Amino acid sequence: MMDQTVNPTPFYPLGHVGDIIAFRAAVAGWLNATVPPDWRQNLTGASEETYLKFQNWWFDQLKSVGLATPHWPKSWGGAGLPLSHQVVMIEELARIGGPMAEMFVVSLFHMPATLFANGSPAQCDRYLTGVRDRGEIWCQGFSEPGAGSDLSALRTRAERKGDVYVVNGQKVWSSFGMHADFCLLLARTNPQAPKKNAGISYFILDMRAAGVTVRPIRQITGRAEFTEIFLDNVEIPVENLIGAENAGWQIAQSTLAAERGLLIFEHAERMTHALRRDYQALTEQHGKPLEDAGLRREFTKRYAELTAVRLLIKQMIEQGEHGQDSGLLAAVIKLYWAQLLQNYTSLMARMRGLDAQRAMPLSLGTGHNSGDYLSDFLQSYGWTIAGGTNEIMRTLIAERILGLPR
Ligand SMILES: Cc1cc2nc3c(=O)[nH]c(=O)nc-3n(C[C@H](O)[C@H](O)[C@H](O)COP(=O)(O)OP(=O)(O)OC[C@H]3O[C@@H](n4cnc5c(N)ncnc54)[C@H](O)[C@@H]3O)c2cc1C
Repeated sequence: MMDQTVNPTPFYPLGHVGDIIAFRAAVAGWLNATVPPDWRQNLTGASEETYLKFQNWWFDQLKSVGLATPHWPKSWGGAGLPLSHQVVMIEELARIGGPMAEMFVVSLFHMPATLFANGSPAQCDRYLTGVRDRGEIWCQGFSEPGAGSDLSALRTRAERKGDVYVVNGQKVWSSFGMHADFCLLLARTNPQAPKKNAGISYFILDMRAAGVTVRPIRQITGRAEFTEIFLDNVEIPVENLIGAENAGWQIAQSTLAAERGLLIFEHAERMTHALRRDYQALTEQHGKPLEDAGLRREFTKRYAELTAVRLLIKQMIEQGEHGQDSGLLAAVIKLYWAQLLQNYTSLMARMRGLDAQRAMPLSLGTGHNSGDYLSDFLQSYGWTIAGGTNEIMRTLIAERILGLPR
C-alpha cells in the first residue's frame, strides 16, 4: 500500500516531469502502491504461462500510468522522457525490488529504435501502436548456428518472389521467441555481394506465419528462455522489409545501440541493493560482522567494483544525453559488468556452502538476485556472451582503446 512518508504527492509520475524530485517521489509512491509484495514468491516455481501472464499484467500496469513507453517520442504516444528520468525510474524500481519487464525489452527498445530511424510510416503506425496499445511481444532473430560473433556470416536466405520474400533458414538464441508476436529478422538477400554484410536485409517477421517453427532451448538452470526459430518457405510480404533491400547491416546498428546501457544500469542498481542485503543477512546469521578477513575483503572488493561500474554507466548515460558516441565505453562496461556479476554470484554461492547446491524451484523475472545464488551464478554466463562475448570486447578494447596491433 502507499507509503505516505515516501510520497506525499499524487502518484501520477508523468504529472511531475518538470521537477525531478517530485517525479522520483511519484514513481516511488506509484511503485509502492502497485507492486504486489509477494510477486517473487508467486513466481518461484511458477509455470511459463503464469510468468507470461504476470509480465503482461506488469506491462499493463506500467502502461496505465504512461511508464511503459515514457522514453518514446510524444509523436508516438510516449512522454519523450529524458534519460535522467529513465534513470530515476530504474533507481526506484531497483530500490523496491520490483519486477523487470524482461519479455518486453525488444518491444520497448530494439524494435522502436529500429523503426523510428528506418521504418516506413505504415510500419511505424502498425507496429509501434501494437506495442504501445496492445503490449505485443517482439523477439530478435539475428544469431544463427555459425553466425554469432561473426553475424555477417548469417545464411538464412530471403528471395523476392513477386509481392513476398520467401525465407528459409534457422535462427538460434532468440530470447522469449516462444511468446513473441513478431521478430526482427536479418536474412541474406544477395549472396553474391562482394562483402558479406552488404547482402543482408532487415524484415519484420510475423511469428504466426506458415512455416515458422519455434523450439525452446533448455538451459543449465532448467529454464527455457531462448528459442530456435526454423523458417521453412516462410512468406514475408514486401511491405515488411525495413529500409532498402541489402541495407540490413546498417539498420541493425540502430537496433543494437537501442537501450544505451540502461539494461546493465538496471541490473547494477539491483545488485547494489542485493549486496547490502546479503551482507546484512550474513552478518545477522553469524551474529556479528564477518570474521573471515578474506571474505570481508572479497565483499569490499565487489562493492568497490560495483561502485566503479555504476559510475561508468552514469558517465555513458551522460554522454548519451549529450548525443556523444559512447560505443567504446559501452564495451568496457559490458566486460566489467559480466566479470563482476560472475564474481559476485560465485562469491555468494560459495558463502552459502552446501545449502546453495540444493535444487530450488526457479524464481522467474528476478534478474540476477533471485536469492538462489547457484542459479544466479549459472545465469551470469549469459552476460559473458550476449551482445558481444568477453573475448570480442577485449579485442575491441585492445585495438580501439589501447591501440594494440591487430
Ligand atoms: C542471454 C543471451 C541472450 C541472447 N539473446 C539473443 C536474441 O534475442 N537474439 C539473437 O539473435 N541472439 C541472441 N543471443 C545470441 C548472442 O548474440 C550470441 O550468443 C553471441 O553473439 C555469440 O555468438 P555464438 O553464441 O555463436 O558464439 P561464437 O561466436 O561461436 O563464439 C564461440 C566462442 O568463440 C569466441 N570467439 C568467436 N569469435 C572470436 C574472435 N574473433 N576472437 C576471439 N574469440 C572469438 C567467443 O568469444 C566464444 O567464446 C543471446 C545470447 C545470450 C547469451
